[in-house]
Amino acid sequence: MARVAVVGSGLAGFTAYQTLRRALAPGEIAVFGTDADPAAVWRVRAAAIRQRQMRSESDGHTSPTSFPGLAFSSVRGRRSVRPLLDSVLDRYHPTVDEFLAHVERLRERSGWDESLVLRRVERVAAVDDGFELDGERFQHVLLALGHPGLNVPDELRDDPRVVHSYEPHEYAPTVTVVGAGLAAATEWLNALAAGAEVVSVRRREPARRPLNVPRQYFTRRGLAGYHRLTPRERIERLRSLTAPSYPAGAQWDEPLEHATQEGRFRVEPSLNGSAQVICATGFRRGFRHDPLLARLVAEHDLETADDWLVLDPDSTVPRLSDARRTLAVAGAPAQWAFPAADTLAGARYAGHRFLGRIQACPTP
Ligand SMILES: Cc1cc2nc3c(=O)[nH]c(=O)nc-3n(C[C@H](O)[C@H](O)[C@H](O)COP(=O)(O)OP(=O)(O)OC[C@H]3O[C@@H](n4cnc5c(N)ncnc54)[C@H](O)[C@@H]3O)c2cc1C
Repeated sequence: MARVAVVGSGLAGFTAYQTLRRALAPGEIAVFGTDADPAAVWRVRAAAIRQRQMRSESDGHTSPTSFPGLAFSSVRGRRSVRPLLDSVLDRYHPTVDEFLAHVERLRERSGWDESLVLRRVERVAAVDDGFELDGERFQHVLLALGHPGLNVPDELRDDPRVVHSYEPHEYAPTVTVVGAGLAAATEWLNALAAGAEVVSVRRREPARRPLNVPRQYFTRRGLAGYHRLTPRERIERLRSLTAPSYPAGAQWDEPLEHATQEGRFRVEPSLNGSAQVICATGFRRGFRHDPLLARLVAEHDLETADDWLVLDPDSTVPRLSDARRTLAVAGAPAQWAFPAADTLAGARYAGHRFLGRIQACPTP
């Protein structure tokens, strides 16, 4: 009988699973999810914005240890030591194809399919010494539920021209892109490359930085400082980190300058008569949008702060984790513990701490 459960079969659940497999056999772990392929959801979104390279740096993979990541297999595939050199400097961005092949390899090797239960979990309830997932009992549970859906501004919901950037689409001759983060910037260039005339509608000027969440929050020291913030300060910090940004660099600026001169790119304050409106407006945010989390919070009176579920620094739910049982969270809903929770490095952080708690717990 499995005593450990992971709810969510996406990349965060998969990354945590790889860490759990260091200490547990596939038969000891049950993964509840909606897709057998851990990259199923991600693959569609990355393809929709024509992503070819990973956004994350060298630690953006699903193995249990950060280094060397994908560098060794890329060295073999590309017949070049460049990936390894870049990896040492933490500046290596594997291609999406290299990343997906790595996920496939680990899926086969790790016993993922043996642990998988293709079923959506509706309810997690704390019981003595553990949790019931729709009536089935486990001692330790990791919730890796992903984002609770794509965000489309209310006023655009019924507009037939609208498509979300993370849904499959082609480009009309005139395109308005709403938003100003990395997905929006990618879509400006995609639509321009497809020959479209592009209007950018944005509420705020985007910041220019290499990663959504600055590197300091991936370090032990930066994280310790973050964990010392008061709840109010932490809410403000998380709000500032979720503001739109995309990397600096000529590969972004030159095509935009060129298209601006040609009259094919401009910024406007509001929607116009474009044939297509692409909402690069990210995801719905906050535990209230996820039915499982909203119910968990309401039924167990869990602590929350604004949109966030309050977690301990090790990504566990304080009131429901003790010496006998663990309820942990990975992925976007775990930002309270790790600001970059919605990255592969963030999933690894949650997975390692989850395993640490399991190993510190006596087996009943
Ligand atoms: C286009 C794009 C590119 C990205 N690129 C990178 C990158 O290069 N590097 C990086 O580190 N990060 C990247 N990210 C961020 C992050 O790694 C991904 O968003 C990743 O898919 C998050 O994985 P997840 O498991 O949290 O969510 P998802 O992949 O959405 O998976 C969640 C899964 O849980 C299932 N689920 C939800 N609720 C339940 C339930 N109640 N019961 C059972 N199953 C449930 C869902 O159906 C889904 O299958 C990118 C994100 C996007 C959108």
